[in-house]
Amino acid sequence: MNRLVILGAAAAALAAPLPAQTLRVVTSTTDLHDIAHAVGDDRISAMSIAAGYQDPHFVEAKPSFALKLGKADVFAYVGLDLEIGWMPTLVDAARNRRINRGGSGDVDVSRVIPVLDVQATADRSMGDVHPRGNPHYWLHPENGKRIARLFRDKFSELDPEGAATYRANTARFEASIDSTTRALAPMLASIRGQPVVAYHTSWRYFQEFTGMNIVGFIEPKPGVPPSPSHLAGLIQQMKRTGAKVIIMEPFYDRKMPDFVARNTGAKVLVLPPSVDGVKGVDSYVELVDYDVRRLAEALR
Ligand SMILES: [Zn+2]
Repeated sequence: MNRLVILGAAAAALAAPLPAQTLRVVTSTTDLHDIAHAVGDDRISAMSIAAGYQDPHFVEAKPSFALKLGKADVFAYVGLDLEIGWMPTLVDAARNRRINRGGSGDVDVSRVIPVLDVQATADRSMGDVHPRGNPHYWLHPENGKRIARLFRDKFSELDPEGAATYRANTARFEASIDSTTRALAPMLASIRGQPVVAYHTSWRYFQEFTGMNIVGFIEPKPGVPPSPSHLAGLIQQMKRTGAKVIIMEPFYDRKMPDFVARNTGAKVLVLPPSVDGVKGVDSYVELVDYDVRRLAEALR
């Protein structure tokens, strides 16, 4: 009898319409993950490979990530070689044609971004890890919107029935960015034109957004550790320009920034460049809000 009941239930389940298929989305970073989630909501399942507190240039290529990529409908990544140290190994191991270059789910997000710091000759031999242009573009809210619109279009292509939902969610996301930046207007006005120093070029797009004036970097080139003479020159430059804040990411060593701070009277400000980079920064909109407020406080 029990067996008959179970068989009956199974037959009924087979006859019922299948639930809407969810798109399986994998992103390289938490920022892309949060924006994908804002656009796709419960029509997608999304996971990020890098954690928000990790240096996105260096992520361990764990076999579990390759398994996830093997089943992914979409793999969205920052591009411009940000993930070159770990992504190719994972994509190879995943053996998934959808996410191979040119596949239906291969989403190089950088292709919709106006890229800064593009060099005439892309040459990594001088140690610069970003010769193809600066990949830290998500730290400008206008680029956050571009990322959302790219996801809206890609998800709609792969899941046409969800197109209206993706469109509405993207509009809501863009509106939340606009209301956040409007609320930040007084802080942005106080930041504009102020001289600062940054560790890595991660803050170039944030500079474009906030109007802060980066007068020098701890690194002489992206990814290249500073020499004593570079630091001496930087200290002179800070004294000349009156720069009082050194911005650095949580995953870099404080030794060099602290040394420069001691020699200039400046303070070191640790800012997360990514969602989940510090506790309480759980979404892209919160990241923008947090970084602007913390910088304005530090400059006050
Ligand atoms: Zn970088």
